[in-house]
Amino acid sequence: MTALAERLTALDARIADAARAVGRDPGELTRIVVTKFHPARLIDDLAALGVHDVGESRQQELTAKRGETTDAVSDVRWHFIGQLQTKKAKAVRAASDCVHSVDRDRVADALHAADPEGSPLDVFLQVNLTDDPARGGAAPSEVEALATHIAARCASLRLRGVMAVAPLTAAPAEAFERLAGAAATVRRVVPDAAWMSAGMSGDFAEAIAAGATHLRIGTAITGPRPDRG
Ligand SMILES: *Cc1c(COP(=O)(O)O)cnc(C)c1O
Repeated sequence: MTALAERLTALDARIADAARAVGRDPGELTRIVVTKFHPARLIDDLAALGVHDVGESRQQELTAKRGETTDAVSDVRWHFIGQLQTKKAKAVRAASDCVHSVDRDRVADALHAADPEGSPLDVFLQVNLTDDPARGGAAPSEVEALATHIAARCASLRLRGVMAVAPLTAAPAEAFERLAGAAATVRRVVPDAAWMSAGMSGDFAEAIAAGATHLRIGTAITGPRPDRG
């Protein structure tokens, strides 16, 4: 087995253990491999190992890699997980199957306007769990209004749930409980928005305990990321 295959297998075993420890079925979890900063051939290698979901955080990199990967990855779903600027929305919509970082009305509007009659795009509403507004995400107090806006005004977007990154300074379990509260708020607006994108290499067990359905795992599977400014 290659080192990559070993890390993938080991991580999936840890995910399954963390799920069973809290009485959840590992089969209900989607493990997204975050490939940002790595060359496109990593995605070819992951696809060959049966990976179906990859995550990218920058539009140019996402668009370039979709062009560079081979036909072997045609059944891979591409998740956009980075901060999204309105001027990049059209390119992100063209290159992704799911967007995790919808955090304001204008971003939702731009994604919708990019392809208003197109097949529905799955989106998550990103919630900011820190006190720093510069970090991506809507403030918890803005979640209900943003979910209402997406549901009422953005017919080509399918709001599936909430997403967050745990703050560096607080215990992840407590942060993910707050995210679960935001998820309940979204479900009052869109009852079938049952997904929760949370959990990275260092905190996926806490995220699973709080109800995460989509895990975004980078370094624990890929190894260290190449430097990129
Ligand atoms: C990079 C990144 C991840 C993966 O982080 P790791 O610690 O490498 O697992 C997950 N989510 C987001 C939004 C990221 O930018």
